[in-house]
Amino acid sequence: MTTTSTHGGPAVGDGPATGDRVPFFPPDLFHEDRDTLLRLLHEIGTGADQKFILGDRTRRFEDALRDRLGAADVVACSSGTSALHLILTALGVGPGDEVVVPALGCAPLAAAVLHTGAVPVFGDVDPRTLTLDPEDARARITPRTKALMPAHMFSVMADMPRFTALAAAEGLRLVEDSAVAQGAVLDGTPAGLWGDAGLYSFVQVKSFGMPGEGGAVVTRDEETGHRVRMLRNHGQDGVHRGLHHVIGVNSRFDEIQAAFQLHRLPGLDARLERRARIAAHYTEHLTGLPGVTTPPPGTDGRCYYVYTLLADDRDALRDHLSAEGVDTHVYYPKTLPDQAAFAPAAASVETGASVAAGAPAAAGPGWPHARDAARRQLSLPVHHRLTDAQVERVTEAVRAHALRTRR
Ligand SMILES: *Cc1c(COP(=O)(O)O)cnc(C)c1O
Repeated sequence: MTTTSTHGGPAVGDGPATGDRVPFFPPDLFHEDRDTLLRLLHEIGTGADQKFILGDRTRRFEDALRDRLGAADVVACSSGTSALHLILTALGVGPGDEVVVPALGCAPLAAAVLHTGAVPVFGDVDPRTLTLDPEDARARITPRTKALMPAHMFSVMADMPRFTALAAAEGLRLVEDSAVAQGAVLDGTPAGLWGDAGLYSFVQVKSFGMPGEGGAVVTRDEETGHRVRMLRNHGQDGVHRGLHHVIGVNSRFDEIQAAFQLHRLPGLDARLERRARIAAHYTEHLTGLPGVTTPPPGTDGRCYYVYTLLADDRDALRDHLSAEGVDTHVYYPKTLPDQAAFAPAAASVETGASVAAGAPAAAGPGWPHARDAARRQLSLPVHHRLTDAQVERVTEAVRAHALRTRR
């Protein structure tokens, strides 16, 4: 088969027993790095300076990411969610503002906006890429709109060239939720560097996950980086301790994690490459099956964080795969505006827009593509620890189901 790993050799996937199942997340993710993790714990835990947060190791980790990307600044912080909040705050988003976000995606896309006092305005997604549709986003812009915040979704980057043009034309800030897209490049520009700022998440399940919580803000703009740095540590400038220039938060980064991520960074490209090869194998063998839509193929603007199909009989396919020992995941069973937490925000915008237009509230355009994707999406295991045999098992199980049910 075509997915043979060029790193790790035949040992890939021979970690602790997982029964006979193909796990969605690798149970042995840090298997090969365990000794390093214990050494770093000991080294930092017994270090003379007893420095556990925002020390030299965090700085070196930030510098390594910055140099790799060609960014002006990279600021490590406590999570991807916190990174979103830091960016929005640094860009001056607050009460009275609206931010256009995708209707399909993770909760922080809406919650981070609401926590600044602004209102998220949900735009529908493109049915093929499942990322915010630029045309739909454009239609939701009002005089209160301050920023656009598209998110890269599953394995596909949002249409950043069009969002860049739209933000420039409308005089809006552009926040790129690149939490899942570290390592992806679109038209020569890395994910994270398209807008005013982007971010990565290092929570365990992301492509550059670590054993804990963390994230980073990435930006081409030094001034934005400077503001985020201050906000991350209670509004201090990093030079004068005890002087608070702005109202900040605690979103600091851990030295042990920084040292561990520095150790893991050189292997990132090979792990991403392995994911991409597995994804290419799925696309090659699953495209064209009845009732199944595979993600748009290719390598430009792709990040194989998750491999997500759209299946007409999603729940039956999921049950079949589970019976075959393949673990799958449904990331977003409901759209954001359909979630209890965010429905009031969605309703307030619909009502406001409709009142402005003199139309009844029910006349809102809705989110048909996001809702369809919520019903049909199913994510397959694509992590770098899968063996070729496991990839084949997943492929065959999907094929068997699709071909049997459509006979
Ligand atoms: C994971 C994720 C986040 C949040 O990152 P955390 O580190 O889990 O807080 C934000 N946006 C997207 C698109 C994500 O997938």
